[in-house]
Amino acid sequence: MARISLENMRFRANHGLYEEEQKIGNDFMLDISIDTDIQMAAVIQEHDTEKVINTVNYELVYEICRIEMNKPQKLLETVIEEIIYRLKRHFPNIEAIQINLRKLNPPLGGRIAAASIMEVRSFEIQCAKCGSVMICYGDSTCWCQQENARDRIHPRSLELINQEFKGSCLCRRCLKSYEG
Ligand SMILES: [Zn+2]
Ligand SMILES: [Zn+2]
Repeated sequence: MARISLENMRFRANHGLYEEEQKIGNDFMLDISIDTDIQMAAVIQEHDTEKVINTVNYELVYEICRIEMNKPQKLLETVIEEIIYRLKRHFPNIEAIQINLRKLNPPLGGRIAAASIMEVRSFEIQCAKCGSVMICYGDSTCWCQQENARDRIHPRSLELINQEFKGSCLCRRCLKSYEG
């Protein structure tokens, strides 16, 4: 496991419920910390040589944060959700994400340094078939839902997998046993 962090990223942004905030904006600080599974990135590269896999890197993580901070949202929760969704879409090997978003000097009528929201999300689950620990994003961003993970499996086998495991994720090895 490797942990990649970006700390105290500062943005001027227009998130907020009040018209003033949306017009004038506020200063924000953002911390993000991502635990990645290095082995899984290696495995994916080995099996899907035709596809370039993004291992988590600072440049792209920052770019994702910058783009999402630039989109005004009423709630900070929405900003965090959008960042997490984009991270999952770009990187297939995230074990966990921790995000702390702080609005500096929030307009609450007193002297308050910051109002902040902390979100911790873990994507480690057990394979529905063999029980081994694996990463699953639980939605369409998951590696197991991508075509390259499934295009070697007969459609009828896919149907059986979905029936038997009710859409739950199987690990790479178990999925592979249905190939051919
Ligand atoms: Zn398994
Ligand atoms: Zn999955």
